[in-house]
Formats: sequence, C-alpha cells, structure tokens
Amino acid sequence: MQPKFFIDYPQERIEEGSNVYRCSICKETALTINGLLTNHKASCKYRIEKEKALSFDD
Ligand SMILES: [Zn+2]
Repeated sequence: MQPKFFIDYPQERIEEGSNVYRCSICKETALTINGLLTNHKASCKYRIEKEKALSFDD
C-alpha cells in the first residue's frame, strides 16, 4: 500500500523568523501542499521524482 502523504520534501522558511515553510524546489507553502504530491507544482523535481518512484511499484 502506498503512503498517502509525503512530507519529506526539502523545506525552507518563507521568511526569516516565520514558522511557515515551503517546498524549497517549487516554492509552494506547506499549507498549500498539505502532504499531497499533486499540490506541488507539476514542474517540481521532488514531485516528479516521487511520482516516478511510485509508478515503479505498480
Ligand atoms: Zn515542491
């Protein structure tokens, strides 16, 4: 069974002193992503690599 949520993407703070994080690759915020691969931008390298890895499991 495939995991539903993916939170191991590279993260960075949106701004110094902020507690809001975003994907350091596609810059979508953690709130937007909400653990879902499809909420990363289609061009996000993390999403592309994960989807590739998942498709190999089928
Ligand atoms: Zn991303």
